[in-house]
Amino acid sequence: MADYDVLFEPVRIGPKVAPNRFYQVPHCNGLGHLRPAALAAMRGIKAEGGWGVVCTEEVEIHPTSDLSPYVEGRLWDDADVPGLRLMTDAVHEHGSLAGIELTHAGLDSANDYSRLTPIGPRSEGVLGGGGYEPRQTRAMTKRDIADVRRWHRNAAVRAREAGFDIVYCYAAHGLTLPMQMLSRRHNDRTDDYGGSLVNRVRFLREIIEDTKDAVGDDCAVAVRLAVDELLGPEGITHDGEATEIVGLLAELPDLWDVNVSGWSNDSATSRFAPEGHQEPYIAFVKSLTTKPVVGVGRYTSPDSMVSAVRRGVLDLIGAARPSIADPHLPRKIREGRADRIRECIGCNICVATDPKSLPIRCTQNPTMGEEWRRGWHPERIEVRRSTADVMVVGGGPAGLEAARALGERGHRVRLLDARSRLGGRVDREALLPGLAAWRRVVDWRLGEIGRLDGVELYPASAMSADDVLQAGARDVVVATGALWRRDGRGRATGRSVDGYGLDGVCTPDDLLDDLVAGTWSLTGERVIVYDDDHYVMGGLLAELLARHGHQVVLVTPAPLASYWTQYTLEQELIEARLRALGVRVVPRVVLARIGIDTVVTESVLDGERAELARDHVVLVGDRAPVTTLYDDLTPALTDGRLDSLRLVGDADAPGLIAHAVFAGHLAAREFGADVDPDAVPFRRERFALP
Ligand code: ADP
Ligand code: SF4
Repeated sequence: MADYDVLFEPVRIGPKVAPNRFYQVPHCNGLGHLRPAALAAMRGIKAEGGWGVVCTEEVEIHPTSDLSPYVEGRLWDDADVPGLRLMTDAVHEHGSLAGIELTHAGLDSANDYSRLTPIGPRSEGVLGGGGYEPRQTRAMTKRDIADVRRWHRNAAVRAREAGFDIVYCYAAHGLTLPMQMLSRRHNDRTDDYGGSLVNRVRFLREIIEDTKDAVGDDCAVAVRLAVDELLGPEGITHDGEATEIVGLLAELPDLWDVNVSGWSNDSATSRFAPEGHQEPYIAFVKSLTTKPVVGVGRYTSPDSMVSAVRRGVLDLIGAARPSIADPHLPRKIREGRADRIRECIGCNICVATDPKSLPIRCTQNPTMGEEWRRGWHPERIEVRRSTADVMVVGGGPAGLEAARALGERGHRVRLLDARSRLGGRVDREALLPGLAAWRRVVDWRLGEIGRLDGVELYPASAMSADDVLQAGARDVVVATGALWRRDGRGRATGRSVDGYGLDGVCTPDDLLDDLVAGTWSLTGERVIVYDDDHYVMGGLLAELLARHGHQVVLVTPAPLASYWTQYTLEQELIEARLRALGVRVVPRVVLARIGIDTVVTESVLDGERAELARDHVVLVGDRAPVTTLYDDLTPALTDGRLDSLRLVGDADAPGLIAHAVFAGHLAAREFGADVDPDAVPFRRERFALP
């Protein structure tokens, strides 16, 4: 692809040369030091897929930078070198460079595992751990500063020993000592590390100089700097202190990796930020240095990448999420298959497992995190074991993924759906405010299926059990989805809401029907949204209703609106948006009763009741799996008219789109295999007992 040639130019980074401009920036993954083989396999597949540089996540350099309970990288001593070497070997096997993000987290580490005293520029409450840990840092003494410099230097030497090509000095996301020293909000020291900007830059400068001195002839030294905290004058700004910082250090590192801070701004979801959203903040950096610059912005379009290079914004296209959704993205561009990129939808389900200390996963890429333990590859799948034809009923994310992956395996597949448009819940939910990019889940699968001769699609085909059997199907995957419960039952009380059958009470499905039809059936002004689901739906409907001019109150048993979106880094943004739209949030209450024109709420804390006026109520509770077809087909499996029958996705257990895609993929992988229900279905990493 001549147009994209520029993306495949090598880029010199200090003593190293990156083979192209595709740069997987550091990203967390929940594998880290606990699951080094899984980590190596995941990173290796990215190198295989053409990422010219593949980096670690943040890697703790010392037990005073203990990020537990989060599972990050660890390089505390020589014993940690072999685990990391697994990754560098996997990356080098494909000719890519390996980068390591050395981290002393300062006041972001509560040291809950090591039990050592946290340290920071001053004594203040630690930011890490659960976020509100009842512990403060010790204000770093001169001796502490000398210690951290030595630990960083030692870690750099060990990183070289582990085979890394690029060693980071990390001053971004507010997560590390060098950035905390830069920050006026955390650094009020009166010694030569505080006060003037030159003083506040001193520690970062020393860390860079130490690292260059220790490994600079063998390894490139990168700086990762937050050039805007999006806090206005309270924080570092791109047109304020960041310009001065880059100016002061311009030629010192071999590479500038620049972004906005904190993590929720850097990894903004597609609901809140478009592709390339960081460009206005990072564009200035190249004008101040001759060293290569890498930055991110959820780039999935090769045209946007080429444009960022040609406009002189970036030398290297940084990516975390686009490389998670499609580890083979660069290779697809190089081979003229850019239309086959599995584009990130910007949902942050990959982020959500990091705070849970669990292996990474991805809505779009069901193989992410499963490379080692299940032996899955994002671009390769085992050839079919039999010549069986498969019928898939339901064309939502689960059914589409099952049909696609079965088709890849070589099976003939018929996929049928009652609706005239395929895509199931995603086709509908993508109409909600800000979720247009979620449609990529459907678009990519339909595109892939379109290339497979053996997969036939039959929309507008509602199927009964008789229809399935008469069509001659012998192997059936049922992916018939779920519907929101009409009675508002959710986890808070475990029972229906009194009065749910009254006029004006509806479910998310009713409002989605309206969106699909381009109509709006709610005529009254005052709407109560009752959210006992806690992911995005309740908040999204409140937003939608407010945008349609309704007066909206969101009531929820949780302490916060859209509580679970804390894990996707969206909760504060959602609540701020609801406030801006005039939505009132009433937390920690259940709906005790719905009346003709009021609802009664009950506090989950003390049972206190209150009345709210209503014209409409939207009940966002549990969903009811649609299992009629599966139930009606089950006897046919027992009496031998079917060879196999499998229920997948929301029809099996309602959940995230990511759960449905994974379930569809798993069904396809396991089709025709003898799966032992008593065996653990994946490998686990075990370490020798001391
Ligand atoms: P999932 O998330 O598990 O993929 P969805 O709810 O997105 O589930 O999709 C389920 C799809 O199944 C919907 O598009 C729905 O129209 C379709 N469906 C449900 N029952 C039948 C049926 N009996 N025959 C054909 N299609 C059905
Ligand atoms: Fe993108 Fe969502 Fe996958 Fe993360 S989980 S890489 S945001 S599609």
